Amino acid sequence: MKVLLLGGTGEGRELASVLRDAGVDVVSSLAGRTAAARMPVGEVRVGGFGGAAGLAAWLQEHPVDAVVDATHPFASTMTAHAVAAAREVGVELLVLRRPGWTPVRGDDWHWADSTVAAAELLPRVGTRAFLTIGRQGLDAFANTGLWMLARCVDAPEPLPDWCSLILARGPFTLADEESLLREHRVDVLVTKDSGGPATAAKLTAARRLGVPVIVVRRPPLPGGVEVVETVEGAVQWVMRVSHSSRR
Ligand code: NAP
Repeated sequence: MKVLLLGGTGEGRELASVLRDAGVDVVSSLAGRTAAARMPVGEVRVGGFGGAAGLAAWLQEHPVDAVVDATHPFASTMTAHAVAAAREVGVELLVLRRPGWTPVRGDDWHWADSTVAAAELLPRVGTRAFLTIGRQGLDAFANTGLWMLARCVDAPEPLPDWCSLILARGPFTLADEESLLREHRVDVLVTKDSGGPATAAKLTAARRLGVPVIVVRRPPLPGGVEVVETVEGAVQWVMRVSHSSRR
């Protein structure tokens, strides 16, 4: 059994490790944009495939029994390419997507359909914004004229001159998130609905300090794809594909 695992997430790394321990041959694929990326165990290839056609060609040259897309919930281009290429080549495909976040009592969340929509909404919600949306999409906030602090893993290029910058990679603790919001007198937090525990403390910190949150909705998944929310679900799916391909 050989699997192409489109990674770039903690779930991708965990899945690579569990599948390897179960005797499955895994090649993980990373986009290669993060400078000091955390590497999964086992075989890794790095860099884009060259669109859906490039991925289809790769799959023809490197036959696999299944593709698991464990990319980030906002990596919608890669997911669309994976779905198209797997259909073209006739390979089984699964999308592993961790659940999104849901508001709880005391939260003041404002949903936006995109980072552009979030930037448009921002002046109506606060004046000192903490942007935790990554590097991509930051430009949408360049002309709001508000005080901004952005947190990214790697520095945006070119460096924005319209906001302060923190370079850091989660997980972040609740105590640190609370003191960061306090120190900078943040009165609005902007986030993508990435889901997962590693970066969720900022939401709890915002709730405790009464800071409203603008949450960018996830892009929709392509129709007709099989989706699981957990690494365990993905392992079971791979095992099912493995059994049926042996018959
Ligand atoms: P994207 O917009 O969906 O993808 C853009 C292009 O990057 C794809 O068309 C593909 O290039 C290449 N690519 C993306 N993921 C790849 C992978 N796993 N292996 C090989 N090529 C890949 O994705 P993105 O938002 O730029 O994210 C890039 C990577 O960072 C993903 O693996 C994702 O899991 C991770 N990440 C993204 C976010 C986020 O907020 N977007 C956050 C954390 C981590 P070609 O068309 O040339 O094949």
